[in-house]
Amino acid sequence: MTRVAFIGLGHMGGPMSRRLAEAGLDLTVFDLDASRAAPALERGARLAGSAADAASVAETLITMLPTPAAVEDAMLGAGGALDALHDGALWIDMSTSSPAAADRVRARAGGRDIRMLDAPVAGMSTGASAGTLEIFVGGDVADAERARPILEHLGDPQRIFHVGGHGAGYVVKLMLNLLWFDQLVATAEVLTIGTQAGVDLTVLHRALVEGPTSSRLLARDLLPLLRHGEYEEGFSLALAGKDLRLAIDLARSAGVPAEVSAVVEQLFARARAAFGDDAGEMTPVRLYEETAGIRLRLPADEDQAA
Ligand code: NAD
Repeated sequence: MTRVAFIGLGHMGGPMSRRLAEAGLDLTVFDLDASRAAPALERGARLAGSAADAASVAETLITMLPTPAAVEDAMLGAGGALDALHDGALWIDMSTSSPAAADRVRARAGGRDIRMLDAPVAGMSTGASAGTLEIFVGGDVADAERARPILEHLGDPQRIFHVGGHGAGYVVKLMLNLLWFDQLVATAEVLTIGTQAGVDLTVLHRALVEGPTSSRLLARDLLPLLRHGEYEEGFSLALAGKDLRLAIDLARSAGVPAEVSAVVEQLFARARAAFGDDAGEMTPVRLYEETAGIRLRLPADEDQAA
């Protein structure tokens, strides 16, 4: 049986590691906050005392960490995983991180035979619990095939995509989030203007969902907010801000101007200053709501899901 280590057991890594334990894999887990390990431990996983302890028993190591700095800390810091991995081991970083951070880990591995993939995900903590994540895999094809049986416990087999070489998975994920955040702000602005100009939100929302600029965000992702006032606390503004900064860094290093995204990043920063790090990723909508003195809410029974 493949021996797997899993580091980073938060909103995403918690349910993902629980699924691997439930699937009966030989699993060792680690988090700086040991209390996060409970769901996996209850299902038969072992708790390691450090990232290195976890990695030392692993054929495959998965990391699901908040930031590139945390990835480098867990891999390269004191008690880090990289030096403890056996030759031939596979490291799969499922964090939304940067190609540059993974490059630094790869450089430190030097000539050792450590296989590496980036495999960030979309699908929120609900997808992590249900095993329906979308997964964007960057790295060698043979390593991606080796990882697939494990990834299929976490994601929808039809939506596990090999998207290119090392770093391509991070790039696709960052571009997906960037477009979603840009759309969120543009949608909040449009809904606020339209309703303040006198059109009923239910009518406006339905017209936009049926129109040529419809999106999954408008038709589906926004409904918990519009119906129940949920700003999606499962993904914090702190992490959303991190993703926006990484995407803009990527634009800079690719030599592409990113004026729209820079404004969106500032709106997220304003929301974070107003509502705190732990507020949900849809909180920028509140900036529009509070400026206009309204709440964008559909009747709770309004059924417009795509
Ligand atoms: P989280 O903040 O809930 O959890 C991160 C966990 O990592 C925490 O338990 C923390 O204690 C642990 N940690 C931090 N540094 C560590 C270290 N050096 N060693 C060991 N453990 C460490 O974050 P999350 O929401 O689970 O997100 C994880 C990653 O997944 C992020 O990169 C995020 O952008 C991405 N992501 C999140 C979502 C979501 O909906 N939450 C969706 C898709 C992708």
